[in-house]
Amino acid sequence: MYLEFTKRQEAILEIVKKQGPITGEQIAEKLSLTRATLRPDMAILTMSGLLGARPRVGYFFSGKTPGRMVAEKLHKMKVGAIKSVPVVVDEKCSVYDAVVTMFIADVGTLFVVREGGFLEGVISRKDLLKITLGGHDIHKLPVGVVMTRMPNIIYTDQDESLWSAAKRLLTHEIDAMPVIRWKEDPQGANGLEVVGRFSKTNITRVFVELGED
Ligand code: ADP
Repeated sequence: MYLEFTKRQEAILEIVKKQGPITGEQIAEKLSLTRATLRPDMAILTMSGLLGARPRVGYFFSGKTPGRMVAEKLHKMKVGAIKSVPVVVDEKCSVYDAVVTMFIADVGTLFVVREGGFLEGVISRKDLLKITLGGHDIHKLPVGVVMTRMPNIIYTDQDESLWSAAKRLLTHEIDAMPVIRWKEDPQGANGLEVVGRFSKTNITRVFVELGED
């Protein structure tokens, strides 16, 4: 997406906004240029989405501002397309092992799952720091004691929009959410199977990609 246009492209935009639909020939005439000279500019403006083109009708202004197009992208993009692999531990895993897992996997949030990959809890860096300050034997203490448990876990699914999921991370002041899928557990109850991780890093990655577009 080109957010900065040349003076000529700005002039074309103005003409199409005021007089569209208008043919390339007519635009060229108004600017006292040849149709061929304008071709690259028209290509840039249509590719950016600001102008639409219809055969035998001509160019028209799409009404989409660059900001609006970014917003549309953020709403269209789904958590499922940008999620990461979840890093999970068992409830009986020691606080010490959880710290080691965080280092090895290079993540800031671990998800606690029971057999079958069903969500039980979430552990953040500060949860682990806090318990470490308490003078406990972190080799013996299980993470089940420090984790945030169901039903207090904020989770997302593959179909939530990037924008909505990012907004919820801010609202709840958390760094990550498990991406879940409803699935029957071995007891026949409805369980939340952890299928991914959605964190602030995923959002940063999309942000950088949008800047490069
Ligand atoms: P940190 O504690 O390292 O700053 P967070 O801001 O993500 O990391 O976590 C703050 C608190 O919220 C922690 O106690 C953590 O257990 C809890 N928490 C983190 N993620 C979630 C989540 N998805 N749902 C519910 N609670 C969470």
